[in-house]
Amino acid sequence: MKTSGIIHVSAYYPPHLGGQEIAVQDLVTQLSRTGVNVEVITSNRGARAGVSIEDGVLVTRLRSAEFGHTAITWSLFFWLLRHAKQDTVVHLHFGQAFVSEVVWLASRIKHFRYIMHIHCYPVQSGPMGRLLPLYKRLFLRREIQYAEAVVVLNSHHRRIIRSDYGYAGRLLVMFNGLDGSFFEAKRSAAESGPAKLLFVGRLTLGKNLDILLEAVNEINHDITLDIIGDGECRHQLETIMKDKGLKNARLHGRLSRDEIKEFYATSDALILPSSYEAQPIVLLEAMAARVPIIVTKGIGVELDTRAAILIEPTVEGITDGIENLLGMPADARELLTDVAFERAEGRRWDTLIHSYIQLYEEVENSLRSAGLGMGLRMKTIMLTTSWDDGHRDDIRLARMLKAYGLKGTFYVSPEDQEFARQDLLTAHEIRNISLDFEIGAHTLTHPRLPAIPEGQAEEEIFGSKTVLEEITGKKVETFCYPYGSYTKAHVQLVKKAGYRYARTVTRYRFELADPYETGTSVHAYNHGCYDMWRIAHFARFRPVRALQYSEWDALACAMFDRVIREGGIYHLWGHSWEIDKHNDWDRLERVFRYISAHPQVKYVANGELGTYAKSAP
Ligand SMILES: [Zn+2]
Repeated sequence: MKTSGIIHVSAYYPPHLGGQEIAVQDLVTQLSRTGVNVEVITSNRGARAGVSIEDGVLVTRLRSAEFGHTAITWSLFFWLLRHAKQDTVVHLHFGQAFVSEVVWLASRIKHFRYIMHIHCYPVQSGPMGRLLPLYKRLFLRREIQYAEAVVVLNSHHRRIIRSDYGYAGRLLVMFNGLDGSFFEAKRSAAESGPAKLLFVGRLTLGKNLDILLEAVNEINHDITLDIIGDGECRHQLETIMKDKGLKNARLHGRLSRDEIKEFYATSDALILPSSYEAQPIVLLEAMAARVPIIVTKGIGVELDTRAAILIEPTVEGITDGIENLLGMPADARELLTDVAFERAEGRRWDTLIHSYIQLYEEVENSLRSAGLGMGLRMKTIMLTTSWDDGHRDDIRLARMLKAYGLKGTFYVSPEDQEFARQDLLTAHEIRNISLDFEIGAHTLTHPRLPAIPEGQAEEEIFGSKTVLEEITGKKVETFCYPYGSYTKAHVQLVKKAGYRYARTVTRYRFELADPYETGTSVHAYNHGCYDMWRIAHFARFRPVRALQYSEWDALACAMFDRVIREGGIYHLWGHSWEIDKHNDWDRLERVFRYISAHPQVKYVANGELGTYAKSAP
């Protein structure tokens, strides 16, 4: 086996009960059977701390405390520092906070790579719910961004990770697999007697068990309901059952998987009226065991009416669903379970395991070429933005930059002749912007420098510096040539005036050559056919890509990906009035979201690039 040790880190592991625990256990067991060297690091919740070999897998349980449904395992951090090396690959199972923060931090110190496997995307609930947006911004975003690969359970999560977290790396939808034994389950559902309904899962609010009990109470058929599982709603459900005198519903608490298999064998249907499920393993199990399914439309495993009875999670919806099942002729019911069985076939672990092995091999390959890969990680990646002219729309732009934590420079031409006075920033507004951003000079009146006498050019270059320094009370050290047009004489004037940096309008640059004639990477504007050659070149002559990149926002994002990959300086520039004229604010915001808050990137103003140039080799 080519793949060397993969360390699986999970907050919980069986015998602690839960869907994620079982998914992790299945995965590592299957990997180990296939010959992959895996080990598990977890908390001691549900078992004693220590090291053991379980089903061929080395499991280390670390001492931990539990706080608000989260295992806090401090020793994990030290364990990783001690055991992880640069060539270690960690498979991090994310379902709750803490463990992922520890892995991220340790990976920053020991430089190992990790795959982030998101079993449960955090949604707002409980008293800690209000902290969630902050948690996502401060921690989760970073952890996702830094992952070597991200694994999610469905395409909805995939979209979230791409768009909301701007994750540009390897992103895969991987299913939880099914143990082969479910497929061999022998059905022995009774021909007569009451119809037996089965629910398996955590007893939580989102499962809508109260509504299910209500429906069972109202329905005019002879049915029983077996509820397997435990959770915060157990007491509430017991109360409902007592109040209503429900004799045909039973709570069984937690049962082992073998015990659950017996229920699959004898039940007439599995019913799952949840509001939401990421990837309910019980559905798959029931499908493999040929148990008919009654399930909320559109959750988890995407099922259609050929494979399941789809319902709304309401009393009427559930009642209809049950009646639908009871009224179904035997051959129709058989067809339903046959279709579901075939769907489940594709989810056998022995089929799925190969996609995981492939993922590991890809990560290993990138490790192997680590001569480059490792160097890149150490490389400083800088990102800057700049915005020309000093138009009043800069106020909106500055607010947006600030919201995304981006840095940049506003090149202000305080008496710009292209615009009416009332369209320019006032001195007060310039000062306000200067509190958060660098202000650079862009001449006084925005002339084409080569078109005016040198004496006048000198006044424009020197004068704008003085005026802006008076307004802002800060040193103005960066300059931008209007229209990007200048001669060598102007460069000399800019140096003489005491600027440290001057920007042109050259694009497709990712490095800093001459600090007085610096280029940019991308302009927030479509240059159309003038750019075709350079776009084609940037797209390495792949036509579909080139077509995509003819839109500046797509190009801006692709360039960001390139800088992340290859290192360098990323410089986005534009004009707020141009953004407004083309209705491009939304596009700009999308780009901001994409390029912001990347842990490898240093966000700077134009003026700070000068210092980088000096230290660069
Ligand atoms: Zn300009």
